[in-house]
Amino acid sequence: MAAIGFIGLGNMGGPMARNLVKAGHDVKGFDLVPAALEAARAGGIEVVGSAEDAARGVQAVFTMLPAGPHVRAVYLGPGGGGDGQGGLLAAADSGPLFLDCSTIDVDSARAVHAAAEAAGHPMVDAPVSGGVAGAEAGTLTLMVGGSEAAFMKAEPLLKAVGRKAIHAGGPGNGQVAKVCNNMMLGICMLATSEAFTLGKTLGLEPKTLFDIASSASGMNWAMMNHHPLPGIVEAAAANRGYKPGFAAAMMHKDLKLSQAAAASAGVATPLGAEAAQLYTLFVNAGHGDLDYSAIVKLIAGED
Ligand code: NAD
Repeated sequence: MAAIGFIGLGNMGGPMARNLVKAGHDVKGFDLVPAALEAARAGGIEVVGSAEDAARGVQAVFTMLPAGPHVRAVYLGPGGGGDGQGGLLAAADSGPLFLDCSTIDVDSARAVHAAAEAAGHPMVDAPVSGGVAGAEAGTLTLMVGGSEAAFMKAEPLLKAVGRKAIHAGGPGNGQVAKVCNNMMLGICMLATSEAFTLGKTLGLEPKTLFDIASSASGMNWAMMNHHPLPGIVEAAAANRGYKPGFAAAMMHKDLKLSQAAAASAGVATPLGAEAAQLYTLFVNAGHGDLDYSAIVKLIAGED
């Protein structure tokens, strides 16, 4: 069993850290928010006074932070260089493995990987799929970027917080997998919303269209699992007043990340760009807290 640091004990990181404790690890945790620290303490985590403290004397350090700037600041310190001006990479004394499970932009992930490597620390980026329910149940899927050696070290720890850890290739490739996957999901949700709005307007019962499309070539995962209209797929958020599930604000974030990656790589993703714009409209109209399938309201002109 290992001594582990865990930084970022929010909606996702809190339950993930508790699952590491349940797996028998000694976990030291840090967050900026007192309520998150209280919940961590109740879950058997030793609360420490700074991110740097959580990285000392441990074999592995998890981070689960909101976005790229937070990850850069926590790893590299306020000076941004990991050069003794604070930050995890400068503070870590014993060459621990770093595991960043946050969903962040590919460029930040690769910059932090390069700094970790320069400081002699193995690292993986391991963003997750499965939401808060998956974090609590320990059933997340993790998409992992980093060297083969770093992945081999990370895998047993990742299995304590998730069901499946898939090696996606070198540094940053976990984030690449995450943004590509979620871009497809967002586009499929919009395609489903458009098709069902069109069918309904033309007099075709949504349930009938579902029965046909689910046995035909329009079938897709978003339609089958997160159908945007109520009364069709029992587990869908549409049947619970669009309570997430996967919040529209999260989909919006991930679509913006895919657009940043596309711009950085010089790749045209016109459907991804359109999806990002539609979710921007939806979130700016105040619906970020609804499930992402509620975008059907925008498509149907109900918003
Ligand atoms: P959250 O806001 O609940 O948690 C983030 C935590 O990081 C907060 O508690 C915050 O106080 C802490 N934090 C920020 N800066 C810090 C710092 N400098 N030092 C220590 N702690 C700091 O967010 P979340 O829902 O847990 O999401 C975390 C990450 O997981 C995000 O990148 C998100 O995109 C990703 N994600 C979330 C979900 C989901 O359903 N919530 C699903 C998949 C992936």
